[in-house]
Amino acid sequence: MAAPGGYGGPPPQQWNAGMGPPPADFRQGQGPPRHPLAQGPPQRGPPPMQGMPQFQGYGQVGGFGQMAPMPPPPPPPPPQGKPPPMEFTDLANLDEAACKQAMIEFVNQNCCYGKKPANEMNLSKAIGLTALHYTLETFCEGRDTGYVNEPYRGGPVDGPQNGPPPPPWAIPCQPNGMFETHKKEMEVPHTATVRPCHDCDARGYHRCWRCGGWGQIHCDSCGGDGRVMRTDHEGNQRMEGCHRCGGDGRCHCHTCGGDGRITCDTCDGYRQMKCYIKLTVTYTNHNVDHIIERTDMPDELVRCAKGETIFEQVMTQVFPITSYPVVEINDNSVRLVNSHRTAFPNERQLQQRQRLRAVPVTEANYTWEDFSSRFWVYGLERKVHAPDYPQQCCWGCSIL
Ligand SMILES: [Zn+2]
Ligand SMILES: [Zn+2]
Repeated sequence: MAAPGGYGGPPPQQWNAGMGPPPADFRQGQGPPRHPLAQGPPQRGPPPMQGMPQFQGYGQVGGFGQMAPMPPPPPPPPPQGKPPPMEFTDLANLDEAACKQAMIEFVNQNCCYGKKPANEMNLSKAIGLTALHYTLETFCEGRDTGYVNEPYRGGPVDGPQNGPPPPPWAIPCQPNGMFETHKKEMEVPHTATVRPCHDCDARGYHRCWRCGGWGQIHCDSCGGDGRVMRTDHEGNQRMEGCHRCGGDGRCHCHTCGGDGRITCDTCDGYRQMKCYIKLTVTYTNHNVDHIIERTDMPDELVRCAKGETIFEQVMTQVFPITSYPVVEINDNSVRLVNSHRTAFPNERQLQQRQRLRAVPVTEANYTWEDFSSRFWVYGLERKVHAPDYPQQCCWGCSIL
């Protein structure tokens, strides 16, 4: 005899309309209903957990449709000993001519902006203040498990007969790339079983919710009578056969195609479900940063501007920066590295990267006609932030 669920035997056959007779007591009610019995198919719940095999190491597994986190192995102790030597580079600032050139290019890229102020403005002073952007990335892995079920359409079933499943954190899985947030899913080995579909009692079909299994409903036009009253051109009324149902009083049910049964959604008509524990491995790149930017330009502009990397370190656990000449950087590196040490208790830390970037920011003061203001040139790509540039789009596109 084939193993339970038919695995090893011939592939299971999907139920189709017309296949085999329905059970004797299948039709619901006294006859085809006058109206559809329901607005739509009934909602169906998850399968019962009763009778599911238990697996060592999976006591906290989520039920059907629920993923539960698996506590990771304890983290390694913080790095010991002397931190590796940290070398920092520095970078130069822009002069007034370079600022003006950046402004002219910025205006050229914004076709609606008037070019006159950029060409004619006088720059009184340019103050260069290098902004510092410190980032800490902690790349972690979380593992969740939960029972899932799917129609069993045939093929091998890796069940408990093959041995106990490996513990959740022993299943091999590698990230596609470091510091990239993504997910991977897989079947936990040796946890699969094949069970009869709980929704349809392994029949592969349900009674049609529209016609109650009759394959027909009362005709809408004649109300099941088969005849309708008609009025001719002369105003005479007479009964005649219903055109819609052909005098039969009944219409074909379109939901089930007249069979009275519809394919079970849960098992897709295959009558059996494959149940197994699914493992979801979630790789998350947790990212925090600190910006030091001394001008009145909005600090967050520094985040997306190109800069020069003056320090970078990639390790399983980084040593916080402690020897940079700007104390605020050291303090925040220590603060952020410490905060990440305990921030993700349900995850295993795979790798950390810290980076310190210097982003040039130059504040330029200018006058044009009787207007004076400031603008900022920032980033190695020399982006311009000029919120009160005198001739912007709102002045109309006719300005040359
Ligand atoms: Zn029907
Ligand atoms: Zn089913």
